[in-house]
Amino acid sequence: LNTLYIITHKIAAREGRAEYRERFMKYLEYVQRNDLALAGAMTDVKGVRTLRPSEQPNPDAYVRVVEQRDDGIVVRGAKANITGIAVVDEVIVLPTRAMTESDASYAVAFAVPLDTPGVTVVVGRQINDARRLEGGDLDGVPYMAHHEGLVIFEDVFVPWDRVFLYKDWRWTGPLVEIFASYHRQGYGGCKSGLGDVIIGATHGLAKAIGIADKPAVAEKLAEMVFLNESMYSAGLAASWHEQA
Ligand SMILES: Cc1cc2nc3c(=O)[nH]c(=O)nc-3n(C[C@H](O)[C@H](O)[C@H](O)COP(=O)(O)OP(=O)(O)OC[C@H]3O[C@@H](n4cnc5c(N)ncnc54)[C@H](O)[C@@H]3O)c2cc1C
Repeated sequence: LNTLYIITHKIAAREGRAEYRERFMKYLEYVQRNDLALAGAMTDVKGVRTLRPSEQPNPDAYVRVVEQRDDGIVVRGAKANITGIAVVDEVIVLPTRAMTESDASYAVAFAVPLDTPGVTVVVGRQINDARRLEGGDLDGVPYMAHHEGLVIFEDVFVPWDRVFLYKDWRWTGPLVEIFASYHRQGYGGCKSGLGDVIIGATHGLAKAIGIADKPAVAEKLAEMVFLNESMYSAGLAASWHEQA
């Protein structure tokens, strides 16, 4: 939502086109008034990583618009690894990378309720998810919220009032950059916690087999600590800077 707020306002300010902003602000109010749970679906399945969306052997490797109608668009494709997808009210779809002109039909951002015809969710497993069935308060969040899933769009109709970017491929780069900046800032804190666990487990394993003090192992452990602390401090610094 933060990303779409910024991008739709930027498009209105720089290009004088306010339709995306108006649609988005109405949608934001709708989400807030109804207290909806949302998933952010950015990661396309991508196919061949070295090829652009429009160059892929499978044209549906990135979510794209397959039909434009008077009342909206029809989209097809899939987004992978989407956190919490099976238990949300709506899914917000964003482009996953900067696009070029030939990728214009892939330059699309929209929102649909999860029960929209043509939307299918395939829930996947998560690392350590079985641990949550053992009880205890280690993980905090309810079990149902801990999953990622593949969300498939099979010719899904999206009315215009739910379309927040379409064909404006030049804005996909800034959109991804803005999203990534917020996302990395948050992840700097949360993933460094996971990093601590991995470093601790690595050290415990090295100790158990008697090699924790060997230079090659100690050096790698030190590098893990260095990287993890750098990530954490960058996350904190970014947050404090924004408050200043
Ligand atoms: C727990 C979890 C939760 C997630 N939640 C969400 C979510 O809520 N919403 C969402 O949108 N996404 C989510 N994701 C997806 C996540 O953003 C992606 O997994 C991530 O961006 C990497 O994309 P990928 O999995 O397609 O890997 P890839 O991009 O395919 O990367 C795989 C490997 O290939 C390398 N590689 C890729 N392309 C190239 C290239 N051109 N040249 C050289 N090397 C290359 C990469 O560096 C990497 O080592 C989640 C992922 C996880 C693990």
